[in-house]
Amino acid sequence: MEIQNARLVSGRVDHVESPNRGGRFTGGTPDTIVLHYTEGRNRQTAVDILTDPGRRVSSHLVVGRDGGISQLLPFDVIGWHAGVSAWEGRTALNNYSIGIEIDNAGQLEERDGRLFSSFDQEYPAEEMVRGVHRNQTEATCWHRYPDVQLQEVDELCGLLVAAYSITQILGHEEIAPSRKIDPGPAFPLDEMRRRLLSPAVSRAPPESV
Ligand SMILES: [Zn+2]
Repeated sequence: MEIQNARLVSGRVDHVESPNRGGRFTGGTPDTIVLHYTEGRNRQTAVDILTDPGRRVSSHLVVGRDGGISQLLPFDVIGWHAGVSAWEGRTALNNYSIGIEIDNAGQLEERDGRLFSSFDQEYPAEEMVRGVHRNQTEATCWHRYPDVQLQEVDELCGLLVAAYSITQILGHEEIAPSRKIDPGPAFPLDEMRRRLLSPAVSRAPPESV
């Protein structure tokens, strides 16, 4: 997979243009990746929402549970995924970031030993992980991210870090903590950014003694 003219080039990528967009990034941006989950049924329902002119939301990428990818905006154009947001003195993170939506049902509710999403679809126990959200205190149930999907997000972030000098990978839950809980504790955000944003550490030659 590679990036040409601000677009992914790969047989695994569908290109669908979203009309929901701002202007071009300026002044050394994008320098941040913001990760989201879709809290939806599948990749197609997310793409439908994120390209609907009536919804005024979008993201650059949507990653399906099978690892398939939809690109909705070129990487040099501002998307509408972060909303009211703030991080380290900056607000309106859309102006600085590439948005990646990951197909995932989000937080699951346990009712009579069964698991349901916020949109009332039932999920089997093997698709659930229990975890404490960074903005919460109790362990709750979350929809699992399949390994193939996590690998795809990892590869995409690595590619974008290299192509756009990305210095931060953040969760929506961090830049809008009073409103948002995505991508949630089922996503290995801390591990991933520690690894992808520390090239000096991970690529350094072994110390000579
Ligand atoms: Zn989000």
